Amino acid sequence: MNDLKYYCLNCGTCCSEVPGSIEYPTYKRIPLYPDEADRLIEIAKERDVPFYIIEDLVFPDEKNKKILVVTWRIKLDNEKKQCPFHDENGCQVHDIKPIACRAYPLAIKQEDAFKSKISIDPLCNWVIKNYDVLSNIDFKQLKEIFPIEFSHAQNHLRRNKNIMLKLKQLENEQKIKIFRKISSKQFDKYLKEWDREEIRV
Ligand code: SF4
Ligand code: SF4
Repeated sequence: MNDLKYYCLNCGTCCSEVPGSIEYPTYKRIPLYPDEADRLIEIAKERDVPFYIIEDLVFPDEKNKKILVVTWRIKLDNEKKQCPFHDENGCQVHDIKPIACRAYPLAIKQEDAFKSKISIDPLCNWVIKNYDVLSNIDFKQLKEIFPIEFSHAQNHLRRNKNIMLKLKQLENEQKIKIFRKISSKQFDKYLKEWDREEIRV
């Protein structure tokens, strides 16, 4: 194939809300681990930046009647539908930006509640430009095309797996009980009624 190497086009799309297409009917999300959320909240306070987060990956804990939060996400509810740390000069928290931003356009794809893997986000403009090649690459080529992002994605995946391991341990010790089957109606009810507890590793 290929001498293809990823470089960022600096288009800023990954810091913005992107309406989904028929093929990918999703909106972009920027997941934050709780310590990353703390750091950005602190910086937002110092710089007087309106910064809000909502839950991203959560599990309802039946035993303690709590919503366990694995990751938060940045709310893009400002006028530009952009991360509030993004401006015409790019990311204003570049040195401490979240691991998901460092790994991008690689992302963690949740295969089921407890399993995830590294994937390529199809909404990045460089990915769209090179989609034909990228849709046929193997794992080795993925590392070669995205060497820096791949190492951040591995850290991201490791953190994700450590959190899942912690949840399983807590379950084995019978300290929590996560619903395996739950209707969306029930889930919405618990989201409204139960307190949040962050899972940190
Ligand atoms: S933290 Fe920086 S890189 Fe991440 S979404 Fe915000 S502006 Fe973009
Ligand atoms: S969408 Fe892709 S090319 Fe554009 S800024 Fe984000 S990572 Fe770079």
